[in-house]
Amino acid sequence: MDWKTLQKRIQGTVAVPSHTSFDAVKAAMVWNEVKPARSPAIIVTVKQDDDIVEAIHFAKENQLQVAVHGGGHTWCGLAVRNGGMTIDLSQLTESVIDKKNRKAIIQPVISNRELAHRLGQYDLAFPIGHCPTVKASGYLLSGGMSWNLSHWGPGCVSVEAIDFVTADGKKITASQTTYPDLFWAARGCGPGMFAVATRYHLACYPLPKSIMTSTYYYSLDHLSEVVNEVTKLGWEMPSIVELSLFLIQAPPELINKCKSTNGKLCMITAVAFANTKEEGTAALSLLETGKMVQKCLAKNINEPSDFEKLSDISGVAWPEQHRNLCENQCSKANPVDIVMAMRDKIIDAPSSQSVIVFCQSTGQHNLINSNPDIALSMEGQSYGGIWSIWKEAKDDANNIKWHNETMSILQPFTYLHYIGETDIVQDPSRVKQSYTPEKWKRLEEIREKYDPDHLFSGFFDGL
Ligand SMILES: Cc1cc2nc3c(=O)[nH]c(=O)nc-3n(C[C@H](O)[C@H](O)[C@H](O)COP(=O)(O)OP(=O)(O)OC[C@H]3O[C@@H](n4cnc5c(N)ncnc54)[C@H](O)[C@@H]3O)c2cc1C
Repeated sequence: MDWKTLQKRIQGTVAVPSHTSFDAVKAAMVWNEVKPARSPAIIVTVKQDDDIVEAIHFAKENQLQVAVHGGGHTWCGLAVRNGGMTIDLSQLTESVIDKKNRKAIIQPVISNRELAHRLGQYDLAFPIGHCPTVKASGYLLSGGMSWNLSHWGPGCVSVEAIDFVTADGKKITASQTTYPDLFWAARGCGPGMFAVATRYHLACYPLPKSIMTSTYYYSLDHLSEVVNEVTKLGWEMPSIVELSLFLIQAPPELINKCKSTNGKLCMITAVAFANTKEEGTAALSLLETGKMVQKCLAKNINEPSDFEKLSDISGVAWPEQHRNLCENQCSKANPVDIVMAMRDKIIDAPSSQSVIVFCQSTGQHNLINSNPDIALSMEGQSYGGIWSIWKEAKDDANNIKWHNETMSILQPFTYLHYIGETDIVQDPSRVKQSYTPEKWKRLEEIREKYDPDHLFSGFFDGL
């Protein structure tokens, strides 16, 4: 492999293991501080679409399998594979916004916070993901469990077209009318994607003018009654409310009230994506009507918010420079049963930063409904799971053990895993368990059509 010939053909840069910068470039491709031991043979950081075309031709000439690095936020570091070429898209950060038609065309590596900010300047919004630093790239390909999911649907449903460089080095645009099968696959295929997505064409929404949050803290002693009541009230709330149950470390001012449960409590958050203060207040008011509200340890209701503040809050809960394991799934089971099964595990969690979260249905329909137009198969009354978060490598063994034990308790309640947040390195069978059998079969067929020689590593290769 003469990498210098590729370097001459592109505007971007090529790194190979003999370069002193190689290890740093590789480490930066995984957000999680748990870095994989895997290593590609060559990393190509592209500056433009033509660089990707050249990289694909070079990979074919040199029989290198291709992985893609978008934002590096797959928890299990899927952009870094053994051998082959990683095409690094991290320099592709441009966007064009059309306020009048409520459209945006974005390159892949724009973060949730940045996208919300750029659109907000035009009074527009998009169903971005929850954490500020996650990039559109793999978020949208995975499906996109977004803010305001019950109302706007998963992020990928608001993608109208995607520009790709395909396995044969062609630049194409896939949509409902051109390459519709590829477009179907790309909306849910996530790390199994078999072409490089270079631009997403987004349908945007008017910016909700009055985003409001209410937060309630409850002792785990009342967990069953609280979850029962809150999830029932959730069905009565308008779909503009995002309702979540957290099993989490108590804030410092409540720690003393949670001594019997090792400082852990249940936090209920409701975020209303409203247009006026009155609409937001009315949407959140149902939470004040239950009997259990009398028992809450503390509450902050109807607080004004915006996407910037929501990003800040998520950024604190899922901090940078930490070690993480994650398992996210959808469920059709009774939320009380799921949360009660998790109760003792959160009390015993070896890290106070670990969190168990389940988003609940609002708007008198299931939180996620099956959609034949997209490969994403998630469906059910709730989605969520376990995020194990800790700081020091010396605590790996304890946290991994806890995570796996908690996972095995969650498993019986799982309808499907979420391909964007399931550990397919630890257990590759979770790939197939992220799709209905029909959608999995179709996904495989479309992959064979567009990438018959398996140029792209897909779900399984190089791990
Ligand atoms: C802190 C944190 C919070 C998160 N919150 C959410 C959330 O609220 N909602 C949600 O849905 N998900 C969430 N996620 C999960 C995240 O959306 C997915 O892991 C997503 O795949 C990350 O995309 P990436 O581009 O950063 O992945 P990378 O690790 O860069 O890429 C992983 C794989 O995705 C594929 N891929 C990525 N980009 C492209 C592309 N442009 N073209 C072709 N293939 C590509 C490739 O196969 C690549 O190997 C969160 C993750 C983290 C770490």
